Amino acid sequence: MIKHEGPSVKVGAMFRVRRLLAALVILLLLLGTALPLSGADRGQIRVIIDPGHGGEDSGAVAFNLVEKEFNLAIAHLIYLKALGDPQLEIILTRRKDVTLALNERIAMAHRLGADLYIAIHANASPNPRTQGLETLIAERAADGDGSLKLAQVLQKRLIGELEVLDRGVREQALFISKLKMPAALVEVGFLTNKEEANRLKKLYWQARIADALLKAIKDFINISR
Ligand SMILES: [Zn+2]
Repeated sequence: MIKHEGPSVKVGAMFRVRRLLAALVILLLLLGTALPLSGADRGQIRVIIDPGHGGEDSGAVAFNLVEKEFNLAIAHLIYLKALGDPQLEIILTRRKDVTLALNERIAMAHRLGADLYIAIHANASPNPRTQGLETLIAERAADGDGSLKLAQVLQKRLIGELEVLDRGVREQALFISKLKMPAALVEVGFLTNKEEANRLKKLYWQARIADALLKAIKDFINISR
């Protein structure tokens, strides 16, 4: 597969990142069994983080990066960084590399009574120079459910923290239109842009994205009160 190609130095770095991620997953599983109360029981805001693609659906692939793996890495970091936070309960739609239909992701958010839904994706373009970060929302007549506000807050905080090219908030015909809570989809960078891909594959940058997303979620909760 494409992810195993390329210079051996990069492959070695990828394996180290994967080993670290595997350790994080084990830690998550252990911590999961030690938390008897759900977030809703503790009065927390329940946030669904949906790492895009998975299993048979790899998403975009470029420069030794596979989107489904990248999205999952960011989601795990968000989950880990929010552990013990009295304000937030983060729930991931998938914790590993499994195929998950869009309808199942929607159903999960509704079944769990989520307060917010944020999908994590990485972008791709036929033009290798295209780069930047954008937040997508479903096309709607009005912002009755807070999705536009959520997207604006996410975009502002992410651009402020990460200082990458601002592609703005965009409306698209998206599956998240079915969601009954504020919902947005963040495209955190272009895997097809060499400069961005090199940054996106680094753990420190993934951690910065996770930090910025958590700050944005708190921004949105604070202005929604
Ligand atoms: Zn995607």
